[in-house]
Amino acid sequence: MKHLRTLNKYFWKYRVRLISGLFFIVLSNYFNVIAPKLTAYIVDKVQTFLPSQNNANVQFTAHKNQTDYLVNSIIGQLEQSDWTFSKVVSACAIIILILAILRGLFMFFMRQTIIVMSRHIEYDLKNDIYKQYQALDASFYKKHAVGDLMNRISEDVSRVRMYFGPAIMQTINILTIIIFCLYNMFQKSAVLTWYVLAPLPVLAVIIYFVNAIISRKSEKIQALLSDVTTNAQQSYSGIRVIKSYVQEHFIKEKFNEQSNQYRQSALSLAKVEALYFPANVLLIGISTLVALLVGALFYHKNLAAAGAGLVMPHPEITPGTIAEFILYLTMLSFPFSAIGWVTSIVQRAVVSQRRINEFLLEKPGIADNDIKPQFDTGSVAVSLKNVDYIYENTGIHALKNVSLEIPAKSRVAILGKTGSGKSTLANVIMRQYEINDGTILFNDKDITNYGLQYHRQLISNVPQEVFLFSDTVRQNIAFGSDRINDDDVIAAAKNAVIHEEILKFQNGYDTVVGERGVTLSGGQKQRISIARAILKEAPVVIFDDCLSAVDAKTEQAIIKNLDEYLTGKTAFIITHRIFSSLNFDEIIVMNEGQIVERGNHETLLALNGEYARMYHQQVTDAR
Ligand code: ADP
Ligand code: MG
Repeated sequence: MKHLRTLNKYFWKYRVRLISGLFFIVLSNYFNVIAPKLTAYIVDKVQTFLPSQNNANVQFTAHKNQTDYLVNSIIGQLEQSDWTFSKVVSACAIIILILAILRGLFMFFMRQTIIVMSRHIEYDLKNDIYKQYQALDASFYKKHAVGDLMNRISEDVSRVRMYFGPAIMQTINILTIIIFCLYNMFQKSAVLTWYVLAPLPVLAVIIYFVNAIISRKSEKIQALLSDVTTNAQQSYSGIRVIKSYVQEHFIKEKFNEQSNQYRQSALSLAKVEALYFPANVLLIGISTLVALLVGALFYHKNLAAAGAGLVMPHPEITPGTIAEFILYLTMLSFPFSAIGWVTSIVQRAVVSQRRINEFLLEKPGIADNDIKPQFDTGSVAVSLKNVDYIYENTGIHALKNVSLEIPAKSRVAILGKTGSGKSTLANVIMRQYEINDGTILFNDKDITNYGLQYHRQLISNVPQEVFLFSDTVRQNIAFGSDRINDDDVIAAAKNAVIHEEILKFQNGYDTVVGERGVTLSGGQKQRISIARAILKEAPVVIFDDCLSAVDAKTEQAIIKNLDEYLTGKTAFIITHRIFSSLNFDEIIVMNEGQIVERGNHETLLALNGEYARMYHQQVTDAR
């Protein structure tokens, strides 16, 4: 339960709604429990009009000294009036009808307040979660699968909403019904109440055990269901691999087996549930039977005593009393069957809220602020001083004491084997990760001293792993840029040498890409990503291996266009191929997280090290 305590602040925020909701519940149940009293009164009233029973009824106390003010005054009025019998009965019927309407009205108000409150809280909770999503940085998302997280959280939130909406409402509802009914029953006849309540402990025990069984079984079912869906999803997304390895049969068997398990568990849960509700009805039925039997017995004793001129043993028990008790028992049958439902909602909410809390308590790795950078953002010099970065989850020391001075508007190539730390270098410059040691400066200002959003605005980036949204080509290119001018989009696409191909798509720039639309080749994705970066006018450019999937001819065309685009920008071009046609002011070669060589093409060739080796290799390959 302690996990749900974090929700108290929301309850406090909506306390007015909550309290008025509780008030409405109490009122609606109050009107509900008055009706049996009036029914009892009218049942007994009928007796007095029966010729044979006139004598006995006089000493009954069933309707004297009502504790309820409202009932007291209604009955008082009816008794004092010299109305005929049929008038009294009709008056009672109308009053009972009015009570039912009042009850319905307040039930409506109770839903309006409490369920609406739960929607508000759900909204607030989602907002808080969304804010946290924004605050968390790339290293968090590297550790967790985002889609999975997103699904889980929204499912969790709706489960928690069931707690602060329906569950709280029904808990209070159940409690007030039980309290009102028991109070009225004891007021009326303590003896009869004890008899009637006797079977209920059995019910409580059954509820307790069956509930435990149901929640255990339904948890198992949830887990099985998620297995089945994961498996199905994977077989769809991996369909090509499955087919090329001729594994359809194996996958089908596995699926069969899992869904079979699921079916078995679902059936066994259904069996328990099928027993649970009849057992409930049976026990309430037994109580009703007891009320009838014992009540009738007492009434009979009363009559016998009255006939013999003795004091009646239970003057409060009349046919009306029996009717009243039966009505209370009908009312009580709802709480008893609902208790199980409510507890399972609360149990689920506890589990879900624990997960939400874990997520909300996750500390963002990057401290952000709202300060604007205090320098000329038109041209940016980048420098790194003794930068160290270690991947937290693997302990890989990806950058070791890296220092760099890149003057504004210069063009830098970063080369190196796979895993040498090039992408990591790009990511720490973009502040995707917070470095463990050292400083990164833009125009001699520490990049942690101003807001993240301003920093990212300074950089135009093509990541190594291209990401496209399931949206139109146009939207994918214009993304991240305020100017969604068609001419600009087309110019960028032309620079990235993708324009012609886009025109060949069925709907041109309005073609949807990704899961819901056309499937693009790796090279096409890269070029759309390049067009996106080109469209974002920023003083710093970081292209991470952005031509790896592009053929040689197209590559040459793009490089030619890039040459012009990169002029006047501080550019980092990460590549594993040497572009001799692009003039670099500086070439940096990385190995195992360190800068091992730096210089220009000529000096590095003369050095006859890693760069020279790569260059000669490439020249040989090209022949
Ligand atoms: P490059 O871009 O030069 O191929 P990276 O910067 O991607 O190299 O990787 C440098 C080192 O850091 C490699 O050893 C790689 O395995 C490791 N690494 C990269 N990304 C992650 C990550 N998200 N989590 C843990 N280790 C990583
Ligand atoms: Mg890389």
